[in-house]
Amino acid sequence: MDLLEYMGKQVFASYDIPTSDGRVCLTPDEAEAAAGEIGGQVVVKAQVQVGGRGKAGGIQLASSPAEARTKATEILGMDIRGHVVERVWVERATDIAKEYYASITLDRREGRPLAMCSGEGGVDIEEVAARDPKAIKRIHIDPLVGIKPFHARYLVSGLDEEARAGAGEIFVKLYECFMDGDCSLVEINPLVVTTDGRVHALDAKVSVDDNALFRHPDYLEYRDILTTDPQEKIAKEKSIAYLKLDGEVGVMGNGAGLVMSTLDLVQLAGGKAANFLDVGGGASGEQIAAGLEIVLSDPKVRSVLVNIFGGIVRCDLVAQGILDALERVELKVPMVVRLDGTNAAEGRRILEGANVDGVWAAATMWEAAELAVKRARA
Ligand code: GDP
Ligand code: MN
Repeated sequence: MDLLEYMGKQVFASYDIPTSDGRVCLTPDEAEAAAGEIGGQVVVKAQVQVGGRGKAGGIQLASSPAEARTKATEILGMDIRGHVVERVWVERATDIAKEYYASITLDRREGRPLAMCSGEGGVDIEEVAARDPKAIKRIHIDPLVGIKPFHARYLVSGLDEEARAGAGEIFVKLYECFMDGDCSLVEINPLVVTTDGRVHALDAKVSVDDNALFRHPDYLEYRDILTTDPQEKIAKEKSIAYLKLDGEVGVMGNGAGLVMSTLDLVQLAGGKAANFLDVGGGASGEQIAAGLEIVLSDPKVRSVLVNIFGGIVRCDLVAQGILDALERVELKVPMVVRLDGTNAAEGRRILEGANVDGVWAAATMWEAAELAVKRARA
């Protein structure tokens, strides 16, 4: 999960990493009020999960509350590389003397955190890496040892003299934030030194590992804000792997590989899948019911294809789960079910015995895919 800048700055602030005083705002009114409270010159910044906001016009200085309102009106609703701006962050403007780059990411190949620092910041770091790789100091941190002052001194050795001490302290805190927060990335671009010699984070990019969310109840509020799609919201709450696609055949299966092959077959049969939904290899009947509810609640779905292989889960329990779900949600579209594996025959018997209108059983994956595509068109 990629946090918005303001969320990242809230996380940074809890580790004493210096950031500017700011407020998150949903409307021009709120932006004007925020600018009034902060006082003086402010920056109005688009909050979207994508970089390059500055170049896209999503970051603007304002000298008065009235101007902050005008800028917020401009930025709210703006489309930045496919992301619509729903909130802005209004913060006290900074007098920048110099912009740098600082980050810690997980280097999967080395199995260690990798800290990076560059005297050139504010720009695309990939560009710096390509043009002048030596301009970036890189060091792997042994998680058993942690970050030590000598690591920090090395990392900041390419920065201007007056910024080194402050940036070094920030690196130590940033590492703490990265480890405690179960992050896969913490990035400050730009890290700045101000005209009066203070070093602080002007931007914040924090990515947290979704699998660790249960350890961070404070992130759940962020997740709720970041997940706007209603189906994705329920899926996250129920720990179901779900991804919305743009077709019309709703797909549900158990196991990521099986679901991916199902998507391929839908495509091969001439249809397009409406989603990827994996209830998991050992899904309970209840989980199956929850998955089905998610697929059926998507208005774009014209037919549903359920593809279950009973390995860990038993097909009779799956069949019961499907029937339970159909008591909770109305089946407005045809549904094709393919059950195979443990207790498949019994599962099919349960489904057929219930005699629900609009539910077809199919013997093979291919048959199921063809039928689901045909039904979606009917
Ligand atoms: P990004 O473009 O999405 O990475 O957004 P950033 O938050 O990194 O901002 C982009 C650029 O806007 C920075 O590199 C700065 O040059 C500029 N900027 C952001 N905040 C301020 C500020 O408070 N004062 C000034 N003068 N410039 C700012
Ligand atoms: Mn940036």
